[in-house]
Amino acid sequence: MPWVITRLCADCQDTACVKVCPVDCIYGLTVEDTNYRKQLFIHPEECINCAACEPECPWGAIFEDASVPEIFKEDTEINVNVFQAHPKEEFTTTPTPVLEHPTPEQIETNYKKWGYQK
Ligand code: SF4
Ligand code: SF4
Repeated sequence: MPWVITRLCADCQDTACVKVCPVDCIYGLTVEDTNYRKQLFIHPEECINCAACEPECPWGAIFEDASVPEIFKEDTEINVNVFQAHPKEEFTTTPTPVLEHPTPEQIETNYKKWGYQK
């Protein structure tokens, strides 16, 4: 089963996951598209299910698809749809970090922002 990046990554994008993915299947969009949040996405067919990315994400944004919280279920489809909506040339595997080393308070605030309780 592929892994999924949820909306908890939106506007955070520290890119820690990108650095550990052995197959470079974590992408950022390089073009504006208001249908998608500013976050990274895992290509569902390229992910080899190694689980290396999940513990690296300080924002707790990555889940195995079978374990995506109910509140973020839609994000599984979004990780599929974005790669159908855009050609490969419109993605990058070297996105620029937005916010590195979040504090526990920032992480908690982000959970609350998206209505998530661990
Ligand atoms: S580590 Fe988490 S928050 Fe950072 S870019 Fe990857 S999925 Fe997004
Ligand atoms: S599970 Fe492994 S292959 Fe899949 S996105 Fe994470 S690091 Fe990459």
